[in-house]
Amino acid sequence: QKEISPKYKTIADKTDTHPCYNCGAHNYARMHLPIAPKCNISCNYCVRKYDCPNESRPGVTTKILTPEEACEKYLEVKERVPNLSVIGIAGPGDALANFEETKKTLEYIRNEDKDITFCLSTNGLMLPQYANELIELGVSHVTVTMNAVEPKLGAKIYKYVDYMGVRYFGEIAAAILMTNQLSGIKMLTSKGIICKVNIVMIKGINDNHIPEVVNKVKKIGATITNIMRLIPVQGSEFESLPLVNNKEIMAMRKQCEEILPQMYHCKQCRADAIGTLGNDISIEYSKCHNSEKV
Ligand code: SF4
Ligand code: SF4
Repeated sequence: QKEISPKYKTIADKTDTHPCYNCGAHNYARMHLPIAPKCNISCNYCVRKYDCPNESRPGVTTKILTPEEACEKYLEVKERVPNLSVIGIAGPGDALANFEETKKTLEYIRNEDKDITFCLSTNGLMLPQYANELIELGVSHVTVTMNAVEPKLGAKIYKYVDYMGVRYFGEIAAAILMTNQLSGIKMLTSKGIICKVNIVMIKGINDNHIPEVVNKVKKIGATITNIMRLIPVQGSEFESLPLVNNKEIMAMRKQCEEILPQMYHCKQCRADAIGTLGNDISIEYSKCHNSEKV
């Protein structure tokens, strides 16, 4: 067991300076490192694009970086962005479906900076397997995207789930995913890790079900939920679904705020976002590294 010096930030200090967990921290910057191209499930709204400088949404990055390149980029950005407080792994695939890369990246950066906040987002499928290792690596904030707690509904959202070498479909796939999401969140929160649950609001599919998801994750210790509207991307199964309008999403957030605090300021960022939430400077770094496209 490593000795923790009191000079290092506590998890509460880290929450205070994390712009996604505390809207009062809007002057702090976060940096997403796009080292995780693969995914182990298939969401019907997902289209991942590599080499795309013009689009701003999850799953998009100009390049995939190796852990070594990610650390180099971090050192460059740290020099230029003194208010950088958070390093996040947010795809473009799933952080835990690329666990070796995630682990190496966080280890390299921890060698350079003992205090920076580590944040990670995942679909949660592999959380029970990796939760303890994430804690060892110093991850303090984890976001799990969880769109349903009913396998019947989940089967409409997920095309398949690849788990332990087998591809599952339909309700079985959704049930495996949900079971792991819930037990993974519980493992993390029981050890003091801060968990946020992202919920994609999909009109006609899970919109009426969202309060049930929020209730469920509250019971297992989630701190906040982030209800985001579906972006019906061309080429995805859900490309022709209707958009949730502002009024509808705000009403849902208000309703769920009775249960758990809500995030109102999410920007649905790119997998290589850098800067404060209001000022993404990732484009300025897009020509610096030469990783292979996948
Ligand atoms: Fe895409 Fe993320 Fe779903 Fe994987 S978990 S299919 S990367 S949206
Ligand atoms: Fe924060 Fe939302 Fe951007 Fe994630 S997608 S970094 S939660 S603002």
